[in-house]
Amino acid sequence: MLPFEEALRRILALARQTDVEIVPIETARGRVLADESITAPVDVPPFTNSSMDGFAVRSADTPGELTLAGEVSAGSEATVALAAGTTQRIMTGAPLPPGADAVAPLEVVVEADDAVHVPATERGAYVRQAGSDTRAGSRIALGGRVSPAGIAVLASLGVSEVRVRRRPVVAVISTGDELVAPGTPLAPGQIYDANTPALAASIEEAGGEPLVLARLPDRMDAIEAALVDGAARADLVVTSGGVSVGRHDHVREVLERRGSLEFWRIAVQPGKPLAVGSLDGTTVVGLPGNPVSALVTFELFVRPLIRASLCLPGRGRLQVHARPDAEMVKDRDRRAFLRVKIRREAGEFRAGSAGGQGSAQLRPLAAASGLLIVPEGEAAADPDRIYETIVTGELT
Ligand code: AMP
Ligand code: MG
Repeated sequence: MLPFEEALRRILALARQTDVEIVPIETARGRVLADESITAPVDVPPFTNSSMDGFAVRSADTPGELTLAGEVSAGSEATVALAAGTTQRIMTGAPLPPGADAVAPLEVVVEADDAVHVPATERGAYVRQAGSDTRAGSRIALGGRVSPAGIAVLASLGVSEVRVRRRPVVAVISTGDELVAPGTPLAPGQIYDANTPALAASIEEAGGEPLVLARLPDRMDAIEAALVDGAARADLVVTSGGVSVGRHDHVREVLERRGSLEFWRIAVQPGKPLAVGSLDGTTVVGLPGNPVSALVTFELFVRPLIRASLCLPGRGRLQVHARPDAEMVKDRDRRAFLRVKIRREAGEFRAGSAGGQGSAQLRPLAAASGLLIVPEGEAAADPDRIYETIVTGELT
């Protein structure tokens, strides 16, 4: 059994960066910019403007009684210069008239007919200088996946399209004679295929583009044909099932015979039978069929692989130290990733078991917000200690 780190290192060594495409910023959320930084084409804000509704003034005229001499609203041009001893009504976002150097907010002035009493106002008060947020020509780095705020930055610069890494296409192939699609009746011996839709969703979440190929019977020729098809059409092929030691577990054998097997079996619980190889130049990750094993090994190995092809580091999850509420037993020989619910209590993170830890017990995985990592060599998680814990869900 390959240790966790070694398996991860060998999988990541197979990552290949995807090419570049151009997308409108409206669809850029979650994408990764292909360029390290972009050059700001304009100043933000493009002109000096007021940050309050109020009165544009010359600070040297304050405090004082000023004559009202016009108005500037947002979206208009400040054409009339501010003469000494006068003020102009100004709205938030409106350009500061030439000659003005401060704004007195509405709340602090006293208006009487055509005169406005303005208290002492400092030079620059409530004024946003042109380029104070971003200077034209400066380099702007938007690291990681583009967020809604990142889209706002791009839009504020007048950028309508960006160069992003193409999402890697990840083919999904589930194997098992017993599998049927949800929505159809079950015949004796059959179960619903949970992995296909769950893996497709995980691929999307990780930043890839799922290509659901087929739900396959445990037949060597069918599996071989699907792997060849997947390798030709996708950047990465992910299979589920058929990598264990059963008589009908063919995925590994097809890899060995038709492609190459990089490694098989890892010291990870759940997920021991993971098989990784390549076929026609495309990486194939054979996930175990048990749904918990499939999804946890996806999290641990496929998610970082997809991210690496987008030039994103790590698995993109917060990792905290958490104390288990109670002892949780595990296999001594393997590193365990126990399904837990994380909460904050008395200044530390606590991890309560999300339920049964069997690799076919799906609902605890769905209820979990984290994976508590218990190293190899230990037979249980110990409530007197704290453990590295991957935060996989939202905290409530
Ligand atoms: P395997 O890895 O093919 O030996 O499968 C291990 C266990 O996971 C068996 O009990 C299978 O029935 C189950 N299993 C395999 N694939 C799926 C799937 N796509 N959805 C739900 N359960 C599955
Ligand atoms: Mg099977």
